[in-house]
Amino acid sequence: MNTIHHFVNGKKFSGDSKRVGKVFNPATGEQSAEVKLASTQDVNNAVDNAKKAFETWSNKPPLQRARVMFKFKELIEKNSDELTKIIVSEHGKVYEDAKGSLTRGLEVVEYACGIPQMLKGEFTENVGSNVDSWSIRQPLGVCAGITPFNFPAMVPMWMFPMAIACGNTFVLKPSEKDPSCSIKLAELLKEAGLPDGVLNIVNGDKEAVDALIKNKDVVAMSFVGSTPIAKYIYENCAKNEKRVQALGGAKNHCVVMPDCDLEQAVNGLMGAAYGSAGERCMAQSVAVAVGSIGDQLVSLLSKKVEALKVGPGMDKQSEMGPLVTKEHLAKVKDYVDIGVKEGAKLVVDGRNFKIQGYEKGYYIGGCLFDHVSKNMRIYKEEIFGPVLSVVRAKNFDEALSLVNDHEFGNGVSIFTRDGDSGRTFSSKAKIGMVGINIPIPVPMAFHSFGGWKRSLFGDQHMHGPEGVRFYTKLKTITSRWPSGSRTDPEFVMPTMK
Ligand code: NAD
Repeated sequence: MNTIHHFVNGKKFSGDSKRVGKVFNPATGEQSAEVKLASTQDVNNAVDNAKKAFETWSNKPPLQRARVMFKFKELIEKNSDELTKIIVSEHGKVYEDAKGSLTRGLEVVEYACGIPQMLKGEFTENVGSNVDSWSIRQPLGVCAGITPFNFPAMVPMWMFPMAIACGNTFVLKPSEKDPSCSIKLAELLKEAGLPDGVLNIVNGDKEAVDALIKNKDVVAMSFVGSTPIAKYIYENCAKNEKRVQALGGAKNHCVVMPDCDLEQAVNGLMGAAYGSAGERCMAQSVAVAVGSIGDQLVSLLSKKVEALKVGPGMDKQSEMGPLVTKEHLAKVKDYVDIGVKEGAKLVVDGRNFKIQGYEKGYYIGGCLFDHVSKNMRIYKEEIFGPVLSVVRAKNFDEALSLVNDHEFGNGVSIFTRDGDSGRTFSSKAKIGMVGINIPIPVPMAFHSFGGWKRSLFGDQHMHGPEGVRFYTKLKTITSRWPSGSRTDPEFVMPTMK
């Protein structure tokens, strides 16, 4: 059995812990590896190495740090097929989708290549007479990241390229369900010239997470995962005096207006609800049919959901792969049962889906509910599977209220041909990322990614300009070089005369 170790101080690290987790290939249901689960001591060891590396890495000119990122970008491109296959083998998503997610991570590396420009700071000559003032942003120290299973390349790359380019060192704890991609990325960064100890990977579960939270040398924490854990991370990192950004779960709505191009909306919804088997934090799990469009929308959707090609991620014909684990498959099926019991109309039922030759894989067909109402659990809770709920709304205002009253606020979109509806919606929606005729409005690397309400705890979004702010602290220097007569002591607040 292949064992996945940690990666600390530039090399494989086995650690003291004897605990291991199991990693599966979701397409076949077979165990592919065991992964080490770090002890507190293993985590502290990684942090100690990161702390030591910070002394020299933080003093490297930003241009030199950028050059490592340029080289890293080349290596990711060169190794993209291998990285993509690793994602498919442990996550299950289809090859082209996995490759796309790798590219979205790569784009953050490309953004990080411009770090010398972003760290330039601001200068004012003569803030007072012969007094100058300037502001700079300095790295924080050892930063940590905890990431979810659903984007094993992209989400870690929202974090560590930005943190490292800003001059910090990093300890990443990826999801124990699909840990291999992070190890490969760390090896490539080493090959790109990153000094040992700047990026460290510890594999593990709650014990490793709690060790990172308690370690005083970890000064900032980035988290992406479900809302209960995001809240736990936010509260406990604050208690331990750390800077924290904790991104949580979602229930993204797609508002379908009666005036929209319906074919465009249906195609958009298909990709957004069933792509990656619905295991995306920006997946659309609720379609709000406004006015008279509901019956037509459901009829078109149902035909496409029934025709969805579900199969192993490496099969070029597959549009949707399996779910990540057996437990997750059971949870998603349970939600479909709950929806039926709650009285929603199950228009397409994917629960009994099976593929010959892959009977042990974690497959479910696409599921479509109609007449879902806002008091149902399938509407309120995140299912994180290929289950789309259609809710009927009388008009635009009712649709907007549904969006704004929901506890989550990650992404939302509206399909309409009416500029006024689109503009009003984007202005009034209490949601972090809004799409107008765009089904999955994920911001590019040079903008920033983050939700509102219970989809993000903390102040700053990920990557882009917010990423630079999160991974640096501001210092403002005021200086004068008086010559000749010395001034007398002043006992009042200095002000501009
Ligand atoms: P999860 O919350 O179960 O796990 C995330 C990370 O937290 C993992 O590294 C895991 O090991 C760790 N963890 C799990 N339980 C813990 C505990 N009790 N104490 C401490 N650490 C713990 O999430 P997941 O199932 O891996 O990922 C799916 C979730 O992530 C969904 O809710 C999805 O919406 C969310 N997500 C959000 C975004 C976003 O940008 N908002 C992006 C991707 C995924």
